[in-house]
Amino acid sequence: MFVNEVTCKSLLNRSRLADYCINPYVGCGHACRYCYAESYTRRFTKHKEPWGQFVDVKVNAPEILEKEVQRRKRGKVFISSLTDAYQPLESKYGITRKILKILLDFQFPLSIQTKSSSVLRDLDLLSKFEDCEVGFTITSMDESIRKIFEPHSSPTSERLDAIEKLKEKGVTTYVFFGPILPLLSDRNLEEYFQTLADLKIDFVYVDRLNLKPGLWNTLEKTVRTKYPQLVSEWQTVLGSKNDYYERVRTVIQDLCARKKIQCEMCY
Ligand code: SF4
Repeated sequence: MFVNEVTCKSLLNRSRLADYCINPYVGCGHACRYCYAESYTRRFTKHKEPWGQFVDVKVNAPEILEKEVQRRKRGKVFISSLTDAYQPLESKYGITRKILKILLDFQFPLSIQTKSSSVLRDLDLLSKFEDCEVGFTITSMDESIRKIFEPHSSPTSERLDAIEKLKEKGVTTYVFFGPILPLLSDRNLEEYFQTLADLKIDFVYVDRLNLKPGLWNTLEKTVRTKYPQLVSEWQTVLGSKNDYYERVRTVIQDLCARKKIQCEMCY
């Protein structure tokens, strides 16, 4: 892992996901195979290392945020859009925790999305926000799929335990079911949504896999190696006009209605 300590000029950036977004790191040690942030990150940095093997740590982020929160209008902050604020390096640097302390002082509404159960470290802070939600991406309940596509993230069972603990402390929780990996994520949808219903999840977002420029090159290697029998089906689903995601949408909407899960389709 190549770790660089860098300084940033701004942190609280305008976003279409919320009023602001904060990315404490550049790059992400979770190394997800379908990551949308990779191409964007490479466009704006000089990194040539494989995705997941470099991280720039914004070491002055708390200092910059301290100034920004005093002059910017209060608004909802999304953490994070281009990295995971609870990737493994956070346990060493604690940048995210310092950021939360500042946002809490000014009671900025907060939305965190992560693939790491280490968000529980900050439960003491999260439970003090007047408006706070924590979401976990779960592309499949099948641990073997998780290990292939999200190799350095927390096991799914740990994410589910984390949801339970957050709920116990009164923190709103959600699951992001996406990107739906063709013919993998849709295995056992009944079981997937029953697990969320049992957890009394507050809401679920669902999204398809969108092939951003260059993404198929990365994904194809993974699918060819791990699921060679699915390569042509993936090519059909992602590369031609077909109704795969519409059929999955119908099944999910039906399941959520039956199990009384609040669900928002993002596609
Ligand atoms: S956790 Fe998010 S930002 Fe990090 S590699 Fe995975 S998809 Fe990309």
